[in-house]
Amino acid sequence: LDVKAVVIKQFGGPENLVAAELPDPKPGPGEVVVRVRACALNHLDLFVREGIPAYKIRLPHILGCDVAGEVVETGPGVASAKTGDRVAVSPGRSCLRCEFCLDGKDNHCQRYGIIGAQGGPGGYAELLTVPEAYLLPLPTGIGYDAGAAYPLTFLTAWHMLITLGQCGPGQWVLVLGAGSGVGVASIQTAKLAGARVIAVSTSEEKLEKSRALGADETILTPAQNLVKQTLKITGGRMADIAVEHVGPAVFDAALKSLRCGGRLITCGATTGPIIELDLRYVFSRQLKILGSHMGSQAEMRRVAQLVGEGRLKSVIDRRFELSEARAAHQYLADKRQFGKVVLSLP
Ligand code: ZN
Repeated sequence: LDVKAVVIKQFGGPENLVAAELPDPKPGPGEVVVRVRACALNHLDLFVREGIPAYKIRLPHILGCDVAGEVVETGPGVASAKTGDRVAVSPGRSCLRCEFCLDGKDNHCQRYGIIGAQGGPGGYAELLTVPEAYLLPLPTGIGYDAGAAYPLTFLTAWHMLITLGQCGPGQWVLVLGAGSGVGVASIQTAKLAGARVIAVSTSEEKLEKSRALGADETILTPAQNLVKQTLKITGGRMADIAVEHVGPAVFDAALKSLRCGGRLITCGATTGPIIELDLRYVFSRQLKILGSHMGSQAEMRRVAQLVGEGRLKSVIDRRFELSEARAAHQYLADKRQFGKVVLSLP
């Protein structure tokens, strides 16, 4: 019993994150053991800690979806990884044999899960067992913190903008909640696709940082009216795509900021799950409302390659030690961050 970890033994507030010692994991066939050097936080961590009724999670449970580290042991038959490899870990897990998985849409799989949530134990621990297919190379120029800070949010942004949104040159993209992990990834991904980005946030400071990251324009809500400002900025054209994960606070205005044929893509609801929908806008403007959850393993590899080439970059707001997991959760809950909050391990 010598692997240090932070676990939850019951659902609830941050005080339920407790230190634990666990047995050494042994890699099975096709698996490796990764020494976790960094694990980034996501809002999902907070939701899982509080208890999501739809997720069947056995306690005690180890949180943490975004992991980077070093391969320290390989199981029988592992061909593509060796001890000492620097890696990030693809967070999605699926059955690999259903119709969706065989079609390359593994994030549609009925058994799809994310590590640290319903996909098994995560990275709030010194060691993590990973099937080799889910290892992503981490070039030496990219630190472990940066390696942990990109998989979930950049995969989400890629699937929303490139795959579902058909984002391309000249389009206008509204990024709601621009300071969040998904927001930061979406600004960069839309710019990489040649689009023009309007960052939207309730914080002037976060909007300044969004501009530094490449956002062309900014809207401060609720001080500025989202629809009117979008009209003004785009010269009456309105936006092609809205990247949405905020929920009721902005959903209606985001929908009304789209041009005919525009796409509102939603991957979350941090201000609540229920919205009012004016159907007249949806049919008369022929809008598309698209739900998005993570992305495929193939998309994950595309993203990893672009991160490796430095064309997409992790943005880290703050680092905490693993032992400070409670404080890190509170910090993320307070929504003061711009970019990712990362737990560092020695
Ligand atoms: Zn499947």
